[in-house]
Amino acid sequence: MSAMDDFAEQMAQWRTQGQYRQLSMMQHDGIYVWTDQRRLLNLSGNDYLGLAGDTALRERFWAETGGRYALGSASSRLLTGNDDTMTALEHKLAQAYGGRAALLFNSGYHANSGILPAICDRNTVILADKLVHASLIDGMRLSAARFVRYRHQDNLHLRQLLARFADESHVKRIIVVTESIFSMDGDVTDLRQLVSLKRDYPQVMLYVDEAHAVGVRGNQGLGCAEEQGVLNQIDILVGTFGKALASMGAYVICHPILREYLINTARPLIFSTALPPVNWAWSGFVWTHVVTMQSQRQHLKTVGQQLRAAVALLAPHASGSHIVPIMVGDSAAAVAKAKRLAAAGFSVMAVRPPTVPARSARLRISLNSQIQWAHLTPLLALLADNAGGR
Ligand SMILES: *Cc1c(COP(=O)(O)O)cnc(C)c1O
Repeated sequence: MSAMDDFAEQMAQWRTQGQYRQLSMMQHDGIYVWTDQRRLLNLSGNDYLGLAGDTALRERFWAETGGRYALGSASSRLLTGNDDTMTALEHKLAQAYGGRAALLFNSGYHANSGILPAICDRNTVILADKLVHASLIDGMRLSAARFVRYRHQDNLHLRQLLARFADESHVKRIIVVTESIFSMDGDVTDLRQLVSLKRDYPQVMLYVDEAHAVGVRGNQGLGCAEEQGVLNQIDILVGTFGKALASMGAYVICHPILREYLINTARPLIFSTALPPVNWAWSGFVWTHVVTMQSQRQHLKTVGQQLRAAVALLAPHASGSHIVPIMVGDSAAAVAKAKRLAAAGFSVMAVRPPTVPARSARLRISLNSQIQWAHLTPLLALLADNAGGR
């Protein structure tokens, strides 16, 4: 069989399993998206503060910067690609995070797939939550470390693994890897408990991905570590600019020595052209704005609580955030439900394996701070109907 026949056959199989993916065309229009000439309330994005569609903010940026910034950086930061938009943004981040060091990456994917291989050797063990993002899994796979996954949010399991590996004489370092808000479940990690592990196991470093919490949680929007008062105890804190910050890129907050070490070792940083100066300038511009968006964060929190309470009546979920899953189980059924919701004017993503574990396909509702409770009440009626019809 030819290679193309092979691939086509595989995809036909995915179609029958409801696991086939395809690109769809979307036009953004405030809290709505247009697709197939129909307007849907967008409940599937990551634009948690509605800034990607904020044309006034964008126009202010263009007016203030007047086309001053280059649209390409022409090389990696290690060569000639470093400029003051990058160092100024790192400085701004370092100040926000209480004087710790900040290092930029081109994306969260670059950061997560690059940092773990850079800091691990054969004497490192990685203990990662079972549901961490694909970029972290790729980072683990590329690293020389031994890695074990602990059951999702199961600190007892994590402690058992720690006790076991801490006793092995060749194990120099143990890196505990998790997310602060899980992208597909919306549940919030108890970072204080993880920090307390470091008292019992001094060889532990904590690596926390805050991609879904930056801009959204904490008084200044620094994430769950700010909210839980543990900013200084997270050894490696990754934030991204692509979601609530409506830009592109990522950063790690860490010790200045680790920052220097990563500049010497993180391959995505060394071997990829830096994002253009205009992008970093925009990220910095948005950052300054986001720090002040307390009322929007509060609103998002309130609507999130209302939605979670309402869907808890239909199906159990563990969410503690603005991301609220509705578990379906079967992939094809999840896709069918998402289609029905779309027909009624709601864009809700059906998330299926392999993005989530087998048999745990779900509808993932993600809110943003511009959505009002009244927008959601017709959706709840539909979901209740659906639940009844099963
Ligand atoms: C989106 C996401 C990433 C990847 O970030 P990008 O900047 O989009 O590459 C990493 N981790 C988590 C948890 C994410 O949700």
